[in-house]
Amino acid sequence: MDQHGAGRDITTTSGVGRRSFLTGLGGLAAFAAVGLTGSQPLRTAGGLSSAAVRSAAAGTVPAADQDPLDLLKRMISFDTENFGNGGKTRPFAEMLKGVWDSAGVSSEIIPTPQPDNVHLIARIKGTTSAAPVLMLGHSDVVPVERDKWDVDPFAGVVKQGQIWGRGALDMKGMDSATVSSLLRHVNEGGRFERDIIVLTDCDEEAGNYGSGWLAEQHWDKLDAGMVLTEGGWFLAQRDKQTPMLITVTRQDKVYFNLDLTANGLATHSSKPNPDAAIVKLSRGVDELASWLAPVHLTRVTRRYFRALADATSDTHFARAIHMMLGAHSQHSLERAARLVVTRSSYPWLHSALLRTTAAFVIEDAGYKENVIPSTAHVRVNCRGIPGGQKPRYFLAQVRAMMRGRDIEVALATPEGVTEADYLDQLDATWATAPADLDTPLYSALAHAAAQTYPDAVFAPALFEAGTSLGPWRAHNIPGYGVYPYVIDNDQLIAMHGNNERIYVDALRQGTEFMYRMFDRFRV
Ligand SMILES: [Zn+2]
Repeated sequence: MDQHGAGRDITTTSGVGRRSFLTGLGGLAAFAAVGLTGSQPLRTAGGLSSAAVRSAAAGTVPAADQDPLDLLKRMISFDTENFGNGGKTRPFAEMLKGVWDSAGVSSEIIPTPQPDNVHLIARIKGTTSAAPVLMLGHSDVVPVERDKWDVDPFAGVVKQGQIWGRGALDMKGMDSATVSSLLRHVNEGGRFERDIIVLTDCDEEAGNYGSGWLAEQHWDKLDAGMVLTEGGWFLAQRDKQTPMLITVTRQDKVYFNLDLTANGLATHSSKPNPDAAIVKLSRGVDELASWLAPVHLTRVTRRYFRALADATSDTHFARAIHMMLGAHSQHSLERAARLVVTRSSYPWLHSALLRTTAAFVIEDAGYKENVIPSTAHVRVNCRGIPGGQKPRYFLAQVRAMMRGRDIEVALATPEGVTEADYLDQLDATWATAPADLDTPLYSALAHAAAQTYPDAVFAPALFEAGTSLGPWRAHNIPGYGVYPYVIDNDQLIAMHGNNERIYVDALRQGTEFMYRMFDRFRV
């Protein structure tokens, strides 16, 4: 599907006067080469001389552990698939603990009640007691459909300039960029002004022993002043490689599920009837799938789309965005939003940032060939915009739509929680303020973006999905997200799908970004 490989099409990017991550490579390779020898080519601020800050591990970190590609290949090779009840994350954590050990960084495995499923916490001690920075990166991945992949999803194959494998994007790629860039600082003998905690958590994709459980057991180990995890996309111009918009997410969409159930007459399959449950449900699914929830712009998404308009080299796209931001009625807002999505190189992402989404994820009906079943059911995963349309209003809209079709719509609630109480809980999540941008971590991210992607626009954003930031948000600790690699739309779609992959050069550039971000915390 994706034909372009590293090194091609470079000349096509020059027309817009922006630097592609491929054209920037020569410089990056030089940075990497110098970095691995232990000098500090990127240090701009003053501070202690390097001799004064040498740690025991200075100069001794294996080069392979400072190489994000090498590390990512190893990470992908551990099958940490999570089918819903936790993954087998212990071997992965033991490998990573070995990496920390050989760099002289202390770390510990935190077991969960499942023997093969663990968390790993590393801590690089800082020179002061300022509130730590916590890096949060999950080790589990969603399952694969092996026969739908073009490569072995756990082999870490590099082809067409991309590294392929489950977790390459979500989020072992981020994990490898974090660890390898930190270890480069460690190898240089760098000291940080505050502790840097790296939490490799399990059960992010599903399961009972994720970050929430860990926080209940060991909050003392997780307490921090600010947290960075997965989230913000690094988007490219239409050429799929020139960095366009570098985003840091500051809030996640509100997650909830609806259950649609159709009832019909159970009868012998020799005499089909038009009111069969499966038929009714399918009609309802078709209607809901062709409907879009109303567009709601918030302070956070307005700022994002303004930045997108500034960033794009596509003037028609920019004009459509400005039309949307200036719309004076819901009608013109909807019309402009349709145009924005049509013109976007990332249409599904941008549609999701504009409204509540509904995705059909699990369907069940029927049990025997000669019986037309009396019920059919589908689960719909929904994501609402904080400060946009409340989940309760979305639910009411879907109910009204399905009522005429004789389809029941239920909000899926945790056991023992009523719908009314759960809607109140969702309201509270919906009303949660986005993370404060006035923090050392956010300004370090902004600084690193300006240095690493000088021709792109940097902006805060809404994450269209979810993260394991819950416990820190509950403590009012600002949490942000990035996937530090420029991706194209095909790669974006492969997240949680088949043939997940990212550009190797984008990973390397993103690791430079992370290195520069951590550099802001060096003494
Ligand atoms: Zn993830």
